Amino acid sequence: MSSIRTIDDLYAGYRRFRAGSFLEARDRYRHLAEQGQQPTVMMIACCDSRADPAMIFDAGPGELFVLRNVANLVPPPADDNAFRSTSAAIEFAVSVLKVQHVVIMGHAQCGGVRAYVDGAMGEAVAGRYIARWASLLGPAYESIPAGLAAPDAAKALERAAIRHSLQQLNAFPFVARRVADGTLTTHGAFFGIATGVLEWLDSDNGEFQPVS
Ligand SMILES: [Zn+2]
Repeated sequence: MSSIRTIDDLYAGYRRFRAGSFLEARDRYRHLAEQGQQPTVMMIACCDSRADPAMIFDAGPGELFVLRNVANLVPPPADDNAFRSTSAAIEFAVSVLKVQHVVIMGHAQCGGVRAYVDGAMGEAVAGRYIARWASLLGPAYESIPAGLAAPDAAKALERAAIRHSLQQLNAFPFVARRVADGTLTTHGAFFGIATGVLEWLDSDNGEFQPVS
């Protein structure tokens, strides 16, 4: 099914890129190299190979500042000395690049979310790093209806997690300041892999609505 299975396949893909879309956008790449990047949108998405923001939003080089991690989670602000790649990327986008929008985009059939649900229901979670990272989903899990079977709990948690990560995102002081002065807006979105439907979180009613 996938056309990329081997390193030779990667080389072949690179050659198509180099002779095709890179060549077409050559001036754009050169301009970006000389002038630096100036994206206005940061996207926080999942590592999942099926939910690629650049593909979903038809974005070219320099257009989206993308952070991907397992289950598109934002950890709470912290004063410790741990290595915090997600917080560093958000800080860079918000305080240095001064993006105008940060979008947290979740997706259907998220393995990271399902791992948390399985763990909460007593099943073993794949690994210690995954389990620890997915534990960020704890507060969101508390917010979904109790007693759901695992597939339904995962569905509910996929959206609840986006709402919770938005709260965490808005809690970073450098985010809160720019939201307060009206120069930054934070958003939630959800991509249905099978349907291609993108839902956007309505900040007024807290519900996800399909983008027409
Ligand atoms: Zn995922």
